[in-house]
Amino acid sequence: MYGMRIWVTDAIVIGGGLAGTEAAWQLAQRNFKVKLYEMRPRKTTGAHVSDRLGELVCSNSLGSKLPDRATGLLQNELKMLQSLLIRCAEESAVAAGGALAVDREQFAERVTTAIGNHPNIEVVREEVTAIPADIPTIIATGPLTSPTLAQEIAALTGESYLYFYDAISPIVTADSIDMSIAFMANRYDRGEDENGDYINCPLDKEQYESFVEALAQAETTELRDFEREDPNFFEGCVPIEQLANRGPDTLAYGPMRPVGIWNPHTNQRPHAVVQLRRDNLAGSLYNIVGFQTNIRWGQQAEILRMIPGLENAEFIRLGQMHRNTFINAPTLLNATMQFRQREDLYFGGQITGVEGYAGNIATGLLAAVNLARQLRGESSWVPPVTTMIGSLANYVTHTEPKDFQPMKANFGIFPPLEKHIKGKRDRKRAYAERALAELSESIKSLNDPVLMDQEVQRS
Ligand SMILES: Cc1cc2nc3c(=O)[nH]c(=O)nc-3n(C[C@H](O)[C@H](O)[C@H](O)COP(=O)(O)OP(=O)(O)OC[C@H]3O[C@@H](n4cnc5c(N)ncnc54)[C@H](O)[C@@H]3O)c2cc1C
Repeated sequence: MYGMRIWVTDAIVIGGGLAGTEAAWQLAQRNFKVKLYEMRPRKTTGAHVSDRLGELVCSNSLGSKLPDRATGLLQNELKMLQSLLIRCAEESAVAAGGALAVDREQFAERVTTAIGNHPNIEVVREEVTAIPADIPTIIATGPLTSPTLAQEIAALTGESYLYFYDAISPIVTADSIDMSIAFMANRYDRGEDENGDYINCPLDKEQYESFVEALAQAETTELRDFEREDPNFFEGCVPIEQLANRGPDTLAYGPMRPVGIWNPHTNQRPHAVVQLRRDNLAGSLYNIVGFQTNIRWGQQAEILRMIPGLENAEFIRLGQMHRNTFINAPTLLNATMQFRQREDLYFGGQITGVEGYAGNIATGLLAAVNLARQLRGESSWVPPVTTMIGSLANYVTHTEPKDFQPMKANFGIFPPLEKHIKGKRDRKRAYAERALAELSESIKSLNDPVLMDQEVQRS
């Protein structure tokens, strides 16, 4: 599938994850010849488990798909921009209420096939250890950029790298969950399946308190020296044991909140609930929502089996810590994702400081659209700040460098509406309408053949 191609390469993309595959596809669709470097399977990141391109490393959800939610809006913008990965996600979607969740294997398989079959892309399975000097390049090596390349990037940027740490959540086999205790339901009965898309494990007050106590006392994996210096978690990914340590009620107001959940077995609202979301289309695997953890593996399984319904759970993956590498984008990048000190070098994905799957796809796409424009001698494209893609690009490149932390899609980074709208829901709807209208206008002004011909991507 990845045979050598005889051609003159126009651009190199490093990293075959979410941003890199989207970037390679966008360049290739614009008729540029691309070499896409991916180091797996020769060298792994520690979090990826396959050799597939576009592998999702943790949750299988690309966030809410509702049009008036931040990720839903971003997904709609990406569809207007002819994103390959959003198309693959929709084609491998599993039922998950209002979320765009996918069968992770099918998703990665679709991405791998589309990229492997594109006549303008050559996939090279090698680790890149130095930044290519004499050819336009997009670096999309993600939060787990290989250490050698990370050092090269640090040398190029002249900045010390910023590190912080996330933790990934466990996956359980469906038939090991005791459904005489657990039950299917969506919060507030929202979702596609009338029985509910989520498996819910209910806890009464006593069970909850013992569970929190066990978490708070659990032994965690020891951090390595450089990790200990800055064990700085992204707030949305704080491990459950840390939440348990913050106070007895923190989890009950966080990932274990029971609001909108009714237990049909007892006809009561549980004191707390653990939700599990489908991880594959077959529905044979479920991940525990919001349960990132760094508890030692032996003890981890033991503690998780305290959850009612999970007494005999079979874990096919336990939680673990991971590194997150990103550059100081406010000092280094333009809102086009172009490196300020070298005009034919771009960055895309998590390494830019944009957090979250959809945001990573978006910045890969943005980098590629701009590199394609540069290669054609056209002016660069800065998407309107009133769009989610533009707002994220603007945020990571214009925020205060000294306090820079990764940012995911959210309406808080949007410029206010011209006329204030009172209700939150109505306001978000108005933000989304404005975003799509302005993106549509901006796309027209680009005169881009791929975006003008909506059929090109699907051919
Ligand atoms: C463990 C973990 C869990 C996460 N969980 C979530 C989550 O649940 N939800 C969410 O929205 N976000 C999550 N993220 C954050 C982020 O959205 C994902 O990491 C996302 O995959 C990043 O996309 P990317 O394209 O930037 O990098 P990746 O998808 O990681 O792709 C980078 C690719 O570059 C390759 N590579 C690295 N160095 C080199 C090199 N020198 N040469 C060649 N290839 C190289 C890697 O093998 C990898 O395939 C998580 C991150 C991690 C690390």
